[in-house]
Amino acid sequence: MRRPIIAGNWKMYKDINEARELVAAIKRDVFEIDNVEMVVIPPFVDLAEVDEITTGSNISLGAQNCYWEKEGAFTGEISPAMLKSVGCKYVVVGHSERRKYFGETDETVNLKIKAVIEAGLSPIACVGETLEEREKGETLEVVKRQVKGALKGFSADFLKKLVIAYEPVWAIGTGRTATPDQAQEVHAMIRGLLKELYSANFAEEKCVLYGGSVKPDNIESLMRAKDIDGGLIGGASLKADGYVSMAKITSVLYSSL
Ligand code: PEP
Repeated sequence: MRRPIIAGNWKMYKDINEARELVAAIKRDVFEIDNVEMVVIPPFVDLAEVDEITTGSNISLGAQNCYWEKEGAFTGEISPAMLKSVGCKYVVVGHSERRKYFGETDETVNLKIKAVIEAGLSPIACVGETLEEREKGETLEVVKRQVKGALKGFSADFLKKLVIAYEPVWAIGTGRTATPDQAQEVHAMIRGLLKELYSANFAEEKCVLYGGSVKPDNIESLMRAKDIDGGLIGGASLKADGYVSMAKITSVLYSSL
């Protein structure tokens, strides 16, 4: 069975004091959970401090973005190796907000995945259709193109640490969640594609997260879907009780499977 991941994307929220408080509160309440990979993904400036608080705990650290070069004259950018040096294990790449506001494309996502894996970290590669694409019936085609573009040129062996997140753009931060059936349809397609591109084993092992207005009151039905292996969660992860309750619900569900 795949180990579920509950990843809290803090986006551009939480200054250093708020970050300290939030992660300490989460840590206090999740220490008994051992069957869920819990990840917090704060803004860059909070990473080192949050790492101090989470080191030795059952909470892992992730970053929201990175650049693909190792170092150089790239003002404002941060390399995967730098993220590793402050304790990160995961890096989100291709989040729809980065695609929308910062020109991220399938090509840059591909470059970032390569750089993240070469630095020894796990990319959480985000894919997902817009509302317009869904309404035109193009969802599966769009997501397939994004996954293929993201993974182009990589071997199964290279992609051992890959995590994929399916995040329908129309569901992110809108309060509008995909139904478990809508999400499962896309997750099943992604797993089928991974099988076609690599192997059945590869597809079976990969965690495919769902993201888009996941909250404590809808997480269980989503996590029950066969091919959903956790959540990438924005808004509802910004409060300790929300994050903790989603991690606990997932833990209880997985221990009963
Ligand atoms: C996200 O930030 O990836 C996300 C899914 O946000 P929200 O949970 O707020 O929709």
